Amino acid sequence: MLEFVYCIPLEAKMELVCLDLEGVLIPEMWVAFAEAVGIPELKRTTRNEPDYDRLMRFRLEILKQHGLGLREIERVVATLEPLPGAKTFLDGLRERYQVIILSDTFQELARPLMRQLGWPTLFCHNLVVAPDGTITGYRLRMKDQKREAVKRFKELNFRVVAAGDSYNDTTMLAEADAGILFRAPQVVVEAFPQFPLVPEAYSELRAAIDDAFARIAQERQEAAAR
Ligand SMILES: [Mg+2]
Repeated sequence: MLEFVYCIPLEAKMELVCLDLEGVLIPEMWVAFAEAVGIPELKRTTRNEPDYDRLMRFRLEILKQHGLGLREIERVVATLEPLPGAKTFLDGLRERYQVIILSDTFQELARPLMRQLGWPTLFCHNLVVAPDGTITGYRLRMKDQKREAVKRFKELNFRVVAAGDSYNDTTMLAEADAGILFRAPQVVVEAFPQFPLVPEAYSELRAAIDDAFARIAQERQEAAAR
């Protein structure tokens, strides 16, 4: 009689990649919206504003001034596509690792793009929308959710490699076993020299993620041998 022996490498099962969304897999939605409606002030993003709450209050104020709501934003987001190569990169990553997208975007805005990405797991926030489509506010699921999520995943015995492009990713990158900046603007690169930078190519980001996990496994082996 055949005997089943489980030989899945335990370490491989515990590897989790946490990715930022905007600027990493999809375009900056607010920038696209700003261009579509011709309101340059709305181009300010987490790439140039470290205080997310201030950024969102600013955005909602501008929307109110121009009488724009969720429907107008949805119309623009529906025309967007993931960044070239993002879907292939993400699919390849998901073949080898568990992947969770940690984003400060809003469920209501991200849906058309998440559909195009094959509905990967997304942890983000919610908008508060009045029946007429006016965005009256937003609900952060929790403060600093990117970092908190990575912290909890580590408690669940995952090894975490995280990648992102902006200020709002840096606590997540610091909390992860390894953090990588991808296509980050110069101000962020200069402010956070402790994180390695992958400037452009998804193939290089994939190689950096694979290398990081190999290094983490090696370090754990060495620690266990001591
Ligand atoms: Mg981003």
